[in-house]
Amino acid sequence: METTTDAEALLGEGPVLHLRGPILLGPEEELAEAWVAGGRIHHERPDLPAGAEVLEVDGFVTPGLADLHCHIGIGDGGGGTNLAEARAQAITDRDTGVLLIRDAGSIIDTRALQDHAPGAPGHRLPRLIRCGRHLARTRRYLRGYAHELEPDRLGEAVRIEAERSDGWVKLVGDWIDRAAGDLAPTWSGGDFAAAAEAAHAAGARITTHTFDEETLPLVLDAGFDCLEHATGLTDETIARAAAARVPVVTTLVNVDHFSEYAAQGERKFPAYAAHMRRLREGRFARTRSALEAGVPLLAGTDAGGVLGHGIIHDELDELARAGLDGTQILTAASWAPRQFLGVPGLEDGAPADLLVTAADPRRDHRVLRELRAVVLRGELLRPGR
Ligand SMILES: [Zn+2]
Repeated sequence: METTTDAEALLGEGPVLHLRGPILLGPEEELAEAWVAGGRIHHERPDLPAGAEVLEVDGFVTPGLADLHCHIGIGDGGGGTNLAEARAQAITDRDTGVLLIRDAGSIIDTRALQDHAPGAPGHRLPRLIRCGRHLARTRRYLRGYAHELEPDRLGEAVRIEAERSDGWVKLVGDWIDRAAGDLAPTWSGGDFAAAAEAAHAAGARITTHTFDEETLPLVLDAGFDCLEHATGLTDETIARAAAARVPVVTTLVNVDHFSEYAAQGERKFPAYAAHMRRLREGRFARTRSALEAGVPLLAGTDAGGVLGHGIIHDELDELARAGLDGTQILTAASWAPRQFLGVPGLEDGAPADLLVTAADPRRDHRVLRELRAVVLRGELLRPGR
């Protein structure tokens, strides 16, 4: 972390904040108080210029929430948005306390939203880590979302997305097989292995959309770095994911909608419909088993496309229904994803991306719905702006 001896440099865009805590550094680690100056967190009171305005802020301080599966740039109904609409989506998420987004696939190029300078498209937007565009097998995903391709082009496509993205590639691993009338992997074990190898060779990590049971052993064999949805987890694949420390991004709000997807497919694909209902019914027990086995859980909303933005708190409520306590929920939605993505939390000198609540979110996650303050890059934000 850079340090400064120039007191003037500690004055950023807004007033210096004195956070009167407690400051929740991690599940079991806290600090009595901290300061925000020059856009950064300070564990010790910094030397301030004479006459510096200091705003006292009372409350529990946590790192900003993270949404590990979000789609900035996909509109309601599935088409690509323009940049202004994508910006509005990110602001909607930000105002719920999401200050870190891993975009799990976008139709449009959202790189401009990473320019946070005043007047730039990304001013006051959450930190965004992009996966590029989804890669899917031809006609084996929602129409219009992904680059659709055949196995002979997979390695090259992975390399291109690895280059274009922020170190993540997203591959759609399974979807309905209309001939079989049920979910099935969209690639062979060899294809998954080649995709993972291409991503890793390019210095990127690779994740996969997976609903069914058959895909998980294939992607775990292939060395995938993360699992999206993962509704098809079994005792065996839970044990494997735990041993390999491969996290699962939960998306339980989306999984709750599986009954609707089942109803839509019922007439033509009854086996698929029954399968989707089974996966939905098992969602809480499976999430709990994964947690108990030591699989890292990361909160993701799947906002954008089918689901609207601004739904992180609904996802946290679903995690509570699955049996996670407040500390486990905050771990899945804040501390663990930051660590997984290599983004700091509330360490001394870290960018000040934090939330203030009146009560302890470790005791009841629902206090995060009523944020007392949202601070992004040291700036105290006002909703919608
Ligand atoms: Zn998604």
